[in-house]
Formats: sequence, C-alpha cells, structure tokens
Amino acid sequence: MNVAQSSSPVWHPFTQHGLEQPFKRIVRTEGSSLIDEDGQRIFDGISSWWVITHGHRHPAITAAICEATNNFDQIIFAEYSHEPAEALAAGLIQLAPPGLTHVFYSDSGSTAVEVAIKMALGYFHHRDERKTRIVVMEHSYHGDTVGAMSVGERGVFNAPYQPLLFDVGRLPFPAPGQEQQTLDALEQLCRGGDVAAVLVEPLILGAGGMKLYHPSVLSEFAAIARRYGALLIADEVMTGWGRTGTLFACEQADITPDILCMSKGLTGGALPLAATLSKPEIFEAHRSTDRSRTFFHSSSYTANPIACAAALANLDIWRQEPVQARIAALAEMQSEKLARFRNDPRFSEVRQIGTITALDLATPTTGYLSDVGPRLRRLFRERGLLIRPLGNVIYLMPPYCSSAEELDRAYSAIDECADLIRSIDR
Ligand code: PLP
Repeated sequence: MNVAQSSSPVWHPFTQHGLEQPFKRIVRTEGSSLIDEDGQRIFDGISSWWVITHGHRHPAITAAICEATNNFDQIIFAEYSHEPAEALAAGLIQLAPPGLTHVFYSDSGSTAVEVAIKMALGYFHHRDERKTRIVVMEHSYHGDTVGAMSVGERGVFNAPYQPLLFDVGRLPFPAPGQEQQTLDALEQLCRGGDVAAVLVEPLILGAGGMKLYHPSVLSEFAAIARRYGALLIADEVMTGWGRTGTLFACEQADITPDILCMSKGLTGGALPLAATLSKPEIFEAHRSTDRSRTFFHSSSYTANPIACAAALANLDIWRQEPVQARIAALAEMQSEKLARFRNDPRFSEVRQIGTITALDLATPTTGYLSDVGPRLRRLFRERGLLIRPLGNVIYLMPPYCSSAEELDRAYSAIDECADLIRSIDR
C-alpha cells in the first residue's frame, strides 16, 4: 500500500511534493531489505542514504541499543560525561588515522562539518593568525545547514539561500589528467596567506556525482596545506566505515588530516551520531584558563549515550567480524557485475571505488532538474529496488551483507531501465 501525499502532514526531504509518486510505507527492515506494508522486500541499493553498513538491524547493534536504554536516555554533555561516550572516543582514536587525539560529538554529517569549520577558524583566531578562508573542491557536497551549504557546490539546491552563504575558494575537480591544474590552483590560493583550511571529500565526491580522484591528489593536498600552514579537513561522512574499501578513505593516501568528520556508518546506520576528530594542537588552541577560548558549540543531543552504545557495538563488529573480507567480497562481486557495462555505449562512464559503483547514463539531459533521475527511480521502485540516481548517474552503495542474487537483480534492472529511458528519450 502507498501513502497518498495529499493526506499526509509530513514534509519529506529532497522531495518535490507537487510531482512525486505516493510514498511507500515501510514497516520493517532486515539485512539489505526494506519491507513494505504488503510484505514486498525492497533491496536497499543505497543503504538508505549511505548510512547502513553491515545491514539493517544488525543483532549486536540492536542488542546494544536495548541494553543502553536500561540505564540511559539523554544526558547533558557539558560538565557531565558518561562511559559510552568515553569508551567510544577511545575506540575511535585507535581506529582513525594516527595522530588524531580528540573527539567532538554531534548528531549529523552537516553538523560534523560545521564543527570542523568552527574548530579550524577557532584554532587560528586563538593563535592570533589571520586565516579565515576555506578552500573546497567544485561539485562538493557537505550537507544542508548554512555553513555546510557555503562550502558545497552552489546551484539549484541552495539558490534561495545564497545571500546567506559565505565565500570560499574553489578548486577545479582533479579529473584524471587534470590533477596538476587543481594542485596549482590550491598553491595559488594558499599563497594569499589567509587559507585556514582545505576541506575535501576524500577520493570520491558523493552527492556531486560519485566522481573519483586519485589518492595522490589527496596526499598532495595534505602536503600543500602543511607547507602554507593551513589545515586539511577530511569529510569522511560518506566515505568512512569501509565504503571505499578501507575503513577510512584517507588511509589510501596514507595521510592523517588535521580534522576528520564522520557520521552515517558510525552507528552502523542505526541511530544518528557524528564525530569530528582533531589533532592535539587544535584542541590545545582552545584549552586555556581564558573562558573566551572555549569551543562554543553544542547541540542538545550531543553524545547521546544510546547512539554511543550503538557506535560501540559497531566498533566491536569491526573488531570481531570479518568486515574487511566482506567488503572485499562485495567489491569483487560489484566489479564482476559492472564489467559488462564497461564498453557499453549507453553509458558514458562506469567507475568503482570499493563498494561504490557508478554508471553515467548517456542521455541528452543531465543534472538534478532533468527528469531522468526521477524516471529511473520510479522504474527501479517498480522492480523492488531502492536506487536513487543523481540525475543521470546511477550508482549503488549497498549494505555489506548484500548477496550476489540481490546485486544480480540490481544490475539486470539497470540494464533494462537504461534501455527504457533511452528508448523514451530518442
Ligand atoms: N558530508 C558528506 C560527504 C555527505 O555525503 C553528507 C550527506 O550525504 C553530509 C556531509 C551531510 O550529512 P547529513 O545528511 O547527515 O547532515
């Protein structure tokens, strides 16, 4: 059964209520599936906006959440603390790239990025250095709060709010063969002397079209930032927790950013939680007997103990289960399924990093406002698949427990739907 839009008071995100089809009401989740009111299993090909890692309702995470509710609900996190947050911070420091020593909690990817920006500016402010500029890459997406929109791509998503957004330096995307141009642009911007931080999605721009760039570019970013006394902020909100094949994408460039943002897979996708990790000097720049140096940031639900317990269970899963092997197997299966599309003229480009694959459908219209994406979405939904293309970019980012049969179904549907869309467009 579907929920008619006109009868619902709910205002949904990224949804044009004047156009969309009725909502499917989900009553249960399990493994790689959403189950609707009619009992139909829908393959969650995008891990419910990239949050579910091990699979929906991993029993250890569910159990940890239930257990935590025996003792906790929310606890103010200023002046008071709790064991789940402390244990989690210690665990994150162990797992994250070496050299990150402090963990600041928040509750979404956007706020993790906002916190990172504030930490970077606070760091220079408290050291009396006039560095206030953030440099980002074109096509980036870092969230939908005002600061996060400021550092993201400008366009249709944020047109009404642009008067509020702050100015940033922008680098051209380092497409293969054009890396030097991006690095030169960064040097040029850094020479101005006012760059506080270079903020990037490591190795892959997610919402900007699943565009890949080489790990060497990321290590060059780190080197250039260091040379000019700027900080490197890695937004691992999407890439973290194994999506690109390694726990964090930064590992593939062998770098430790000065600040690292994570969310989504931090709780395995079960509850909202985010963390911004920093190097010691950033924490130390704020630590003082002078109250004006306090890091003035909080949200009411900072370090929610139940979410922290879910994240601790996620860490245990990483330690105790063969997650890395599962990711490698999923990446291999994806690679095999993708192979048949590699020289297919219906797709202008096909690419993969770790568990993420993307296929650019060659259509006359591209971009978010084209109706290619919504039409594809509808076709996939009719076939029991949750796949939400970004315009003409069809991508899969499934939970790590996805089976070969489920992937088969998804790639067969991509094959079939590509034909359907192109025959209508012709
Ligand atoms: N940063 C990146 C790289 C993201 O992909 C996203 C969301 O997709 C965000 C930040 C924002 O996260 P949230 O939607 O949890 O605010």
